[in-house]
Amino acid sequence: MLFQTQFSAMRAIYCVEAVNSAQRKQIDELFREIQTVAEVRKLSTGRIVSYAVQTKANCCEILDEIAEVLRSINEHSLCLQPVDNVAMDIVSDLCRASGSTLLSVPTCGICGEKELFPGATITICSRGNARIVRYYCPRCTALECKPKVSDFVRALLDADRRNIRLQAEVKPLKRKSRRDLSFTIAR
Ligand SMILES: [Zn+2]
Repeated sequence: MLFQTQFSAMRAIYCVEAVNSAQRKQIDELFREIQTVAEVRKLSTGRIVSYAVQTKANCCEILDEIAEVLRSINEHSLCLQPVDNVAMDIVSDLCRASGSTLLSVPTCGICGEKELFPGATITICSRGNARIVRYYCPRCTALECKPKVSDFVRALLDADRRNIRLQAEVKPLKRKSRRDLSFTIAR
């Protein structure tokens, strides 16, 4: 199993045929707006523009609304549910058939499974502009959870398959909010 389906009721994948670059822009713009109320991941670009969206259980009606708006942009649009390997295969087949570009999906640094919506993300900045970004699935994130942020970040990196050497002390540089699990640290 590559994809977890436990959140299937709150997730959907949308594939829209974009006939020209103006329409592609319009679709991208729509999902940029959706990003303010739901989690969004772009899956493909080109003739077929695809996005995955995840919402909280109590506002999942937005998923139907998105499908309707997309149909008004182009009747050749698809809403795939549940979000599982079958849905991902459909996206990949559509891309292959249309010459569209399939974008890469994050892989959990601990269990190695593909995860559209990682539970935590750590960006490690080295000297110069080199950056390493590591993703962790919600399950592994929950398993390594610690009350103190620096301990939590350290636990994730210790469990990470990639051997990442860090300074003795881990200091997260910036976060949007306490609930934001995207950490930026200096190496
Ligand atoms: Zn994992």
